Amino acid sequence: MQKHTKIYRDFWWDELTLSQTEHCRICDTWNGVDIHHIQGRGKYCVHCHGNQITNLICLCRKHHDLCRDKEFNKLVRVVNYEQVTEKLRSELDQEHLNSLDIPQFYKTNNIL
Ligand SMILES: [Zn+2]
Ligand SMILES: [Zn+2]
Repeated sequence: MQKHTKIYRDFWWDELTLSQTEHCRICDTWNGVDIHHIQGRGKYCVHCHGNQITNLICLCRKHHDLCRDKEFNKLVRVVNYEQVTEKLRSELDQEHLNSLDIPQFYKTNNIL
């Protein structure tokens, strides 16, 4: 398995998010075939090394191809950040945060 595929699966594959995993995260079908490097150098993303989860997104063939359009690729970047953030937020231990001396703003669902 390629390194970025493993990084992607390690992050997304658990009980809660399994349904998203082989999804194209743009059209929400089960046709996800490629894990796209959102910001890559050169034409072929397979040669680039942006292997952070915020740079990786599973797409169907059609939407992967569409990423050659710069503006669409920017949209993909935004969508990916939102979904990564949402997952990380869902994993926060709210009770623990409530016990810390931090501004109320950062406690719980205020920032959703
Ligand atoms: Zn798609
Ligand atoms: Zn790509």
